[in-house]
Amino acid sequence: MHSAPAPLVDRFGRVHTDLRVSLTDRCNLRCTYCMPAEGLNWLPRAEVLTDDEIVRLAGIGVRRLGIGSLRLTGGEPLLRRGLPALVARLTALGVELSLTTNGIGLARTAAALKEAGLHRVNVSLDTLRPERYQEITRRDRIEDVFAGLAAARAAGLEPVKINAVPVRGVNDDEILDLVEFAAEHGYRMRFIESMPLDAQGAWDRTKMITADELLAVLADRWELLPVERQHSGGDGSARRGTPPAEEWRIAGTDTLIGVIASVTRPFCGGCDRVRLTADGQLRNCLFATEESDLRALLRGGADDDAIERAWRNTIARKGPGHDINSADFRQPDRPMSAIGG
Ligand code: SAM
Ligand code: SF4
Repeated sequence: MHSAPAPLVDRFGRVHTDLRVSLTDRCNLRCTYCMPAEGLNWLPRAEVLTDDEIVRLAGIGVRRLGIGSLRLTGGEPLLRRGLPALVARLTALGVELSLTTNGIGLARTAAALKEAGLHRVNVSLDTLRPERYQEITRRDRIEDVFAGLAAARAAGLEPVKINAVPVRGVNDDEILDLVEFAAEHGYRMRFIESMPLDAQGAWDRTKMITADELLAVLADRWELLPVERQHSGGDGSARRGTPPAEEWRIAGTDTLIGVIASVTRPFCGGCDRVRLTADGQLRNCLFATEESDLRALLRGGADDDAIERAWRNTIARKGPGHDINSADFRQPDRPMSAIGG
């Protein structure tokens, strides 16, 4: 039995406790801000980590590196076969386990996932209008998402959060409607600034709705109270807000609204995340341009000590933050759907 884990600290004192695991790079939608209509060259199955490999790596993260929360994502994680069994093995590690999904397939799986120990879900939904949903995702599936949201709530996968990426001229006229829809149904609304992580490399800063713009629209309708949350930074200091979401409460209600402003209000200074791609590459940042090949170590017979070392080295090389706002910014080779958003 290994002794208490030494924290996964980088050069800047940031402690990494949150692991994002991409279960597949495949998807059943084709969101325009994420991938092209024809999809991508999916990873060959043999390159994707098996359940045993994911559980082994997650176990090393939890037992040796102090990982305390795990989020399953993709691509579309519900496309992974036998997901409830994997969820049960991961929750048995004693971590907080959540899932980010497009919600299609959730109506079928929510109860089994809850039973397996999943704690919470985030469901992506950018519009409430069926035709617009089809334009954004290139698929006619909005009713499946509504059913998935309801099933998640009924199963107790709460709080059920809705993620929307507001884009100028696409869905920015629905910001208030989305908040009202979420409040009415007991979901929690979160808006994410669009990021240069699409597979097409077509991100356009002028189309991004910034946090300031979004908050102006919300504040025009409601009185917003900032939600103060204490987050312990790697240096032991308390910071305002828990990265990455900044939260507001609508005065006189218990409606919370989250804003993830990765571009205009970067929260790199408080980042506690590390990412594992579906093919077993460890990334120290969503925007990292290099990866560490844990799959090669696993399949080459490496022991836990060697994997722990590789993991710590990856974090040791982590930079202070992304440079989306600098002229030198280089978009990573992997798009969001292949990294795990
Ligand atoms: N397929 C799942 C889903 O859509 O929730 C999980 C993976 S998806 C890559 C995770 C999140 O990333 C979604 O909420 C999606 O809206 C968001 N996303 C995708 N491309 C993005 C981009 N270019 N900028 C900001 N968010 C993006
Ligand atoms: Fe699929 Fe999620 Fe990308 Fe949409 S955002 S195409 S649902 S991976």
